[in-house]
Amino acid sequence: MPEALLLPPVPARRRVFFALWPDHATAGVLHSRAQALWTACGGRLMRRDTLHLTLAFLGEIPGAALDRLPRVAAQLEGTPFTLELDRVGSWHGHRIVWLAPKNIPPALTALVGRLGSALNAEGFELEARPFSPHVTLVRNARGAPPATEAEAVHWPVAAFSLLESVHRSGVAAYRLLGTWPLAGE
Ligand code: ATP
Ligand code: MG
Repeated sequence: MPEALLLPPVPARRRVFFALWPDHATAGVLHSRAQALWTACGGRLMRRDTLHLTLAFLGEIPGAALDRLPRVAAQLEGTPFTLELDRVGSWHGHRIVWLAPKNIPPALTALVGRLGSALNAEGFELEARPFSPHVTLVRNARGAPPATEAEAVHWPVAAFSLLESVHRSGVAAYRLLGTWPLAGE
């Protein structure tokens, strides 16, 4: 028998994160904005069905730990808010071209704070880097996005989601694992 078969099975790890997932209409507006930027600065356009704003990145966690996340999410309190995405920018030599809010709504800061605390209390470790809300629209752009002012994208947020990051033939794809309403405090 090959030696590998005698080793204990490696527990399956899952790459997961909490995010705001846009409704159909908002995804459409974000996608149009992404197409316009991509036309101007090249690179790789994010697919419409992958657009999101990450709230908390858990990274690769044991499959068994995943079962605890819906309970954490269901206990969170939060209030609905509207995100005004009115700032275009890029990081890492234009590898990431994004849209972000100039003003972060207090309800978003509160949600991320509560989510982080609840996850820490359950033993999940999060990155210490400060929260920087953004929606990635284009990757590996050839140059900086144009500095022209564009109309803000209004994104009504009434829920948050848990996603699994799955790669198919090297292309990032995300699977929706659950969505919880921001139902008031
Ligand atoms: P790929 O890594 O294949 O290019 P991706 O970055 O979209 O695709 P993931 O790396 O699984 O996929 O990340 C999922 C989400 O979490 C993305 O929004 C990503 O920006 C964010 N993310 C990834 N790593 C971190 C991290 N260390 N801290 C905070 N957010 C992260
Ligand atoms: Mg990544």
